[in-house]
Amino acid sequence: MREIFADLHIHIGRSQGRAVKITASRELTLKNILFREAPRKGLEMVGIVDAGSTLVAAEIEEMLLHGELEEQPQGGFLAANGVLMIAGAEVESREGVHWIIFLPFLHSIKSLQKYLRSRVRNMTLSTQKADATAIDLLNLSYLLEGIFCPAHAFTPHKGAYGFWTDSLADKMGRDLAQVKVLELGLSSDSLMADMIAETSNFTFLSNSDAHSLANIGREYNLLRMKQKNFAEFRYCLENYEGRRILANYGMDPLMGKYHRSFCLQCERIAAEAPPVRACANCGSENLVAGVYDRIVSIRDYSEPRQPLGRAPYYYRVPLQKLPGIGPKTLEKLRAGLGSEIDICENANQEDISRIAGERVAALIIEMRKGRLDISPGGGGRYGKVKKDNRKQ
Ligand SMILES: [Zn+2]
Ligand SMILES: [Zn+2]
Repeated sequence: MREIFADLHIHIGRSQGRAVKITASRELTLKNILFREAPRKGLEMVGIVDAGSTLVAAEIEEMLLHGELEEQPQGGFLAANGVLMIAGAEVESREGVHWIIFLPFLHSIKSLQKYLRSRVRNMTLSTQKADATAIDLLNLSYLLEGIFCPAHAFTPHKGAYGFWTDSLADKMGRDLAQVKVLELGLSSDSLMADMIAETSNFTFLSNSDAHSLANIGREYNLLRMKQKNFAEFRYCLENYEGRRILANYGMDPLMGKYHRSFCLQCERIAAEAPPVRACANCGSENLVAGVYDRIVSIRDYSEPRQPLGRAPYYYRVPLQKLPGIGPKTLEKLRAGLGSEIDICENANQEDISRIAGERVAALIIEMRKGRLDISPGGGGRYGKVKKDNRKQ
C-alpha cells in the first residue's frame, strides 16, 4: 500500500488555445497542472473535472498518442511524471445542482459526451447545465462505471444541500444507495457535515475547486491505495480491503467565503448565533445564506456524530494566504524544503525558520495543530488569518 495526496476538483482554463472555463486563469492548462503545479504542490493524483469538454478530451487523446499520458488497464491516466489524472466532468443538473462524474477510460468520457451532446448548449465549456435530472446523471454514471459525487455539497451556490434539499434521501430515494462520496466544499468540514444523519454513508472529499494554478491544493486528501489507478480510487471511497481516505485537509470553514450569512444590504457578515436568516443590523432578509447557518437549520443532531472510520479533518491555510509569506518567500521555501504539502505537513520548524523567519515558522506549526486565529468569511469574501495571531 502507498499513501498519496490527491486534489480531485480542478478546472481547466484553456485547451487547444480556446477557453474552457471563462472565469478561470489562462495558465490553467492540462499540461501546466500535471507537469508543473501538481509536483510543486506535492500532489500525486489530480482530478480534472472538465474532461467532458470536447477540447479537453481531444487534448487528452493527443497526450495519449504522444506518450505524455498512459491509460491504465484498471482506469485512470498516468502522466509521464508519475502523477495520476482522474478524469471527470462537473455537470449542472436540471435542478441547478452541481455533480461530478469521475470516469475511468477515454471511451467512457466519449460515451458521456455522446449523452450530453443533445442536452447541453456548448460542448466545449466547463460545468454546463444539462437537460437531465440528478437521477439521470446518477444512472448515467452507474452505466459508465463512473463515480458520482455531489460537488461542494453545502455551498449556497449550486450545492446539493446548500441550494436544493434538506435531505438527499427525500429527493433520490433508494437510488441514493449508489452514492458513496460527497465533496464538502471550502466552507464546511467533516464535523459540520456529520450533524446530518444521512451523510454517515458517504466518504468525504476535500478538494480545491481550483480556477487558477495557485489555488490547486488549497484543499487535499490523503489516500491509501495499492496502485495508482481508477479502480483503486474507487476502493478508497468504499473502504475496500485496507484502502481508504486516511485524512482530509481543508481550509478552516471560517476561511470559506460562504461560511456565515451575509447581508447584501449592509454588506455585513453575520456574527450572531446560527442560523441567521435576517440581518441583525437592518432586518433585511436579502441574505446570502452561510454554509454554517444552512447546516444548523437542516441538521439532525446538535453535535456531530461521526461514523466509525471517518477520516480526521485537518485545518489548513494555503501557504500564500499566511501573513508574512509573499511569492518570493514561497519560492525560497519550495526551493529549500520541497513541495508545499511537504512544507505544511513535514518540514521542521528550524528549517522553515532559517528560510522564512521565526514568525512564519511559528505560524506553520500553529496551523499544523489547528490553532490559527481566523476572522470568518461570508457573502463571497474569504475569511482571513489574523495578522496578530495570539490564539495560542
Ligand atoms: Zn461547481
Ligand atoms: Zn443588513
